[in-house]
Amino acid sequence: MRSSHSFDETRPPVGAPWRRDPERIRIARFSPGCRVLGPGLRAVVWVQGCPLRCRECVVPEMLPFEGGKDISVHELARRLIALPDVEGVTFSGGEPTSQSAAIVRVLGLVRAERDFSCMIYSGFTYEKLLRDGDDDQRRLLSQIDILVDGPYLPERHTDLRWRGSSNQRVLFLSERYRSLQSMTEDRGHWLEFEYLPEGDLRWAGIPRRGFRRLLEEQLKERGIRLETSSGSVTDEASASEQP
Ligand code: SF4
Repeated sequence: MRSSHSFDETRPPVGAPWRRDPERIRIARFSPGCRVLGPGLRAVVWVQGCPLRCRECVVPEMLPFEGGKDISVHELARRLIALPDVEGVTFSGGEPTSQSAAIVRVLGLVRAERDFSCMIYSGFTYEKLLRDGDDDQRRLLSQIDILVDGPYLPERHTDLRWRGSSNQRVLFLSERYRSLQSMTEDRGHWLEFEYLPEGDLRWAGIPRRGFRRLLEEQLKERGIRLETSSGSVTDEASASEQP
């Protein structure tokens, strides 16, 4: 879907005040295991809400801050800790740094229990976050292992691993994965697909340009719906918080 707005580096990276709540996080989607959005087997959390409007953003349903599921950081941490085979979590979105305080809190809770790596996708550059970010955003930068930074620019669409466009960088902010640096020059489109019990389809990864529209059209012809929002994990998470 094409947005009428383009990326504006001068816009502040912080948004509505509720996103500063360190005890709550708004999530669009959760995957308990993914191999295409970072090193090894990882949980992936797609946060809901992004203040940017990259042209041809592949997840327009994740842009409004009002959508998704609002869950407690304790619930998300509990879910992550309970995944024995994953080595870490990737936060994508949406814009994870808009909910930095909550993500820092989640990482603190998880890392109190086990070693856990963290990778973040941000539409802001590292320099922009350091220069204009708030304390929570800078604190988040200090706690992550890999940052994929910068807006998606469709005219620079790429097949470089973990990136959507060639302006984006894979920055190793800790030593943990630095030995994987050469992997970031690999080329290809790595995608994962999951058929849901209801017969719908869900996918993860960074596709070719125009992939999603084509996929949706072809699936629609076959009566299959593309599932893009919260899966059962976040539904369960919300349910478990009911008094
Ligand atoms: S930063 Fe990501 S979620 Fe936000 S508009 Fe750009 S591509 Fe979409």
